[in-house]
Amino acid sequence: FHANDIDYDYLFKVVLIGDSGVGKSNLLLRFSENEFNLESKSNIRVEHAICSIVVDDKIIKGQMWDTAGKERYRAITRAYYRGAVGALIVYDITRSITFENVQRWLKELRDQTDQNIVIMLVGNKMDQADLRSVQTEDAKTFAERENINLFMETSALNTLNVNKAFTKVLTQIYHVVS
Ligand code: GDP
Repeated sequence: FHANDIDYDYLFKVVLIGDSGVGKSNLLLRFSENEFNLESKSNIRVEHAICSIVVDDKIIKGQMWDTAGKERYRAITRAYYRGAVGALIVYDITRSITFENVQRWLKELRDQTDQNIVIMLVGNKMDQADLRSVQTEDAKTFAERENINLFMETSALNTLNVNKAFTKVLTQIYHVVS
């Protein structure tokens, strides 16, 4: 072990969920390695990534879980959700169906996790503004109605808001537990 791997004050499990193709893997890849990948289903897929941030002089480690494509077969197991204290529900701003399905993801998440879980709704691919089919206001309204306290639009392609989104979720979890 690198000293860095075991030296932390808090370890939080955060899961990424949402339809296939919305950009979950690339968000994680961008956040953990600062890379981006144009192909879906590549071998660069990170299934779990550990990232650290510092808040109030505390080292917070986020253990981020990606579905690794299992959502295609609706094969996400209970183990995936077990112990999660944070979640990013991701949709693609250019595909309305992925936004409509957020409702289903939210239900599954709430059925499987503690009610204190910190949830962020994430509209990804905001670089494709000309193809937008989900309006920011509609997503915000939905998040408020469903008591999802965090919402952000991101682009894994041009890195916009990616670090901010993950950092915000981890910081919020820290405030909930400490
Ligand atoms: P996942 O199935 O949710 O993990 O989605 P992937 O990360 O595999 O991404 C699906 C496809 O969308 C890939 O071709 C990515 O290159 C592309 N993609 C992911 N994020 C973005 C983004 O922010 N902008 C654009 N334009 N494409 C993206």
